[in-house]
Amino acid sequence: MFKLPDIPISIFSKMSHLAKEHGAINLSQGFPDFGVDPILIALVEEVSKGGVHQYSPMAGEPKLLEETAKLVYESYGRTLNPKKEILITAGATQGVFTCIQALIEPGDEVLILDPSYDCYVMPITLSQGIPVRIPLNETFLPDWDLIKDAVNDKTKLIITNNPHNPSGRIWSKADMQELSNLLETNNNLYHLSDEVYEHITFDARHESANLYEALRAKTIIVSSFGKSFHITGWKVGYIVAPENLMNELKKVHQYLVFTVNSLSQHVLSEYLKKQNVKQLGAFYKQKRDLFRTGMKNSKFELLPCEGTYFQLASYAKHTQASDVDFCHKLVEEFKLAAIPVSVFSARKESRKVIRFCFAKENETLTKATELLCQI
Ligand code: PMP
Ligand code: GLN
Repeated sequence: MFKLPDIPISIFSKMSHLAKEHGAINLSQGFPDFGVDPILIALVEEVSKGGVHQYSPMAGEPKLLEETAKLVYESYGRTLNPKKEILITAGATQGVFTCIQALIEPGDEVLILDPSYDCYVMPITLSQGIPVRIPLNETFLPDWDLIKDAVNDKTKLIITNNPHNPSGRIWSKADMQELSNLLETNNNLYHLSDEVYEHITFDARHESANLYEALRAKTIIVSSFGKSFHITGWKVGYIVAPENLMNELKKVHQYLVFTVNSLSQHVLSEYLKKQNVKQLGAFYKQKRDLFRTGMKNSKFELLPCEGTYFQLASYAKHTQASDVDFCHKLVEEFKLAAIPVSVFSARKESRKVIRFCFAKENETLTKATELLCQI
C-alpha cells in the first residue's frame, strides 16, 4: 500500500537520542561539537543584511558555482564550467537522491560496496531499481574480482565512497585504475562518487574521481560543505558532473528542491574566498592522534584510519556480544555513544567493530578515552 514499509529510524538519530537520554558523551552521529569559524559567523551577520533572501537561480548562486569551480581546480586541477557542470544541493544526501532518481529505471541494478552509508539504498528502491550489495574486503577496501563478477547488462551504476564512512580507509591509485577500467569496459555503467570527506585525509592524498580523466565522462561526484566547514546542519553540498549528465540531474533537482536556501549560498560564496581547506587534514589528524593515543591503554584494538573523522575499533577482547548490543551497553551503562558497524551492511554480520566520531573538542576526546580505558 505504501512504498517503503519497514524502514527503521536511522542509527544516527537513534544513537544521538540515546546519548541525550543517558547523558552520555556522543561519539556516535558524525558532527562536530565545536563552534564554527568566527569569520563564517560574521559573514552570516553581514551578508544577511543584503538582498539575499529570495530564490536563488535553480542550479545555484552564480558566485557560489564559480567559487566551487575554483575549489575543485585548486584541489585537483580540474577545470569545470560553473554554469554547466556544477549543481548546488541541499547536502550530499539530496545529491545522491537526485542522481539515483535521474538515472535509475525499474530493474536497473546498482552496485553498493558494504559497509555503506545509509542514504543509497532507499532512493534505489523508490526508483524500482535493485541494490546489489557487495562486501568490501577484510580491510574495508574494494574487492575488484567480486565487483567485476557482479556487473551484468542490467548494471547501471556503481556507488563508491572515498574517503570511506565508516572505516576511514582511503582508496589507492591502483583502485582508481581498476574503477576506470571497469567503466571503460562497461558502456552502460555510470559512477556515483560520494566524496563528502574529500578534504579530510591524513597521510596520503585523496584520490578524487576529479583527478582521473578516464572517469570524468561517466562520473557524478557529490560532496558536502557540511564536512569541510564544520556546518553539517546547514545541509549544503554540491554535485560535479559532465554537462550531458548534469542536464538530467537538473530536471530532478528542479522539482525536488528547485533551489537551495539563498542565505547559506551567499555566505558560502564569500567564505570560500577566505578559507583554506588544505588545513582540514592537519586539523583532524591532531584529533585522530589524540584519540588514538588516549586509547593506547584500553582493551579496544584500533583499526587503520586514513581519512574522515571516524575511527573504528574492535571490542573483541571485551565480549563476543553483537556490536548493536555492545553499543547499547556502552551508552546505557558507560555513558558513551558509538555506532555499530554491522548496520552499514546488508548482511548485518557483526565483525565486533564499532565506530567513534572524533570531530569533537579535545576535552571531549580526552574524557571519552579516559572512560573507554576503564571498560
Ligand atoms: N555521504 C556520506 C558518506 C556521509 O557520511 C554523509 C553524512 N553526512 C552524507 C553522504 C550526507 O551528507 P550531507 O549531510 O551533506 O547530506
Ligand atoms: N553522516 C553522519 C554519520 O555518518 C550522519 C548524518 C545523519 O545523521 N544522517 O554519522
